[in-house]
Amino acid sequence: MSKKKNGMTTHTAALRRYATPTPHHTAQYWKKCDVEALLDTPLLELVWQAAQVHRQHFDPQQVQISALLSIKTGGCPEDCAYCPQSARYDTGVAREALMDIDDIVAKAKIAKARGASRFCMGAAWRGPRPKDVQRVAAIISAVKALGLETCGTFGMLESGMAEQLKEAGLDYYNHNLDTAPEKYHDIISTRHYEERMDTLGKVRAAGLKICCGGIVGMDESRAERAAFIASLANLDPQPESVPINQLVKVPGTPLESAEDLDWSEFVRTVAAARITMPRAHVRLSAGRAQMPEAVQALCFLAGANSIFSGDTLLVTPNEAGQGSDARLLAKLGLRPEIAPAAVPENDAPPPVHTPDTLAP
Ligand code: SF4
Repeated sequence: MSKKKNGMTTHTAALRRYATPTPHHTAQYWKKCDVEALLDTPLLELVWQAAQVHRQHFDPQQVQISALLSIKTGGCPEDCAYCPQSARYDTGVAREALMDIDDIVAKAKIAKARGASRFCMGAAWRGPRPKDVQRVAAIISAVKALGLETCGTFGMLESGMAEQLKEAGLDYYNHNLDTAPEKYHDIISTRHYEERMDTLGKVRAAGLKICCGGIVGMDESRAERAAFIASLANLDPQPESVPINQLVKVPGTPLESAEDLDWSEFVRTVAAARITMPRAHVRLSAGRAQMPEAVQALCFLAGANSIFSGDTLLVTPNEAGQGSDARLLAKLGLRPEIAPAAVPENDAPPPVHTPDTLAP
């Protein structure tokens, strides 16, 4: 296990400093070249390998459904080159205030009725202020009381904030590594990769589960995609949830003219994520609405077992049409996974979600 070969030692050590072991611990260390070898495997062989790993750890007929709501949109001071919410780009996304708690709870109820087991809330901040944490803590508690798992993505956290969020009932904190470490500053200049690791460490130390992934299709090479996947897989413990996004090219952002990523490269990335992070939920996230159903199906075969469902994903379209997710799951014989948090506290049988109940 050579940890110094590709510059990952510092990153892993930064997370370990804060980390507490979870059942998802894995001792395997992934060298970038090993992940690159996976990505170079003939596509159908790679998908077959990933499908086998998937079946060792999950029911391949189940797909975890999350809903994502932007609770504070636009006006972000950061300069992430893919993001229409940055105040630096003219994308037509207006700066909005934090949503009212009752409106958020109403959206969470709708998401639950449509089959979501987890409700993810995003705020376009570099990081929350102490008073923001108090406000989102009240929101998290209200959503958690509905019997949903909760996830928040609020940017970089200061000491003590993760604990406050955990106490409020937060289950997952999303903080993406976005891309390969060596490409990070091509994409974001207003923060450092190490700052991401620092927040991830605080999140682990507070006992929260981690949702951490990134975006492909940002003009990166296959070798850089390998480095990105290796970075995720070498987090110790590994993230419980791994969103793999395909860039949505929003006019006005610096990446609006990025080269199209071939669908097969996206499938390869999903398969590599499944093989290297066997116990994680690998989520098809942004960009899914633009994917043909057959490509999505191949991604499920390659080990993807989570999706965001709903019409929009923060500020970009998510579903190809009303009820299209439900139709696709029905077509593939997949069914929504019921999360433990969705079981009512009175031990009554959990609601049975079928692809039909997922439809709007
Ligand atoms: S991705 Fe997040 S941090 Fe980056 S500009 Fe968008 S809202 Fe801000």
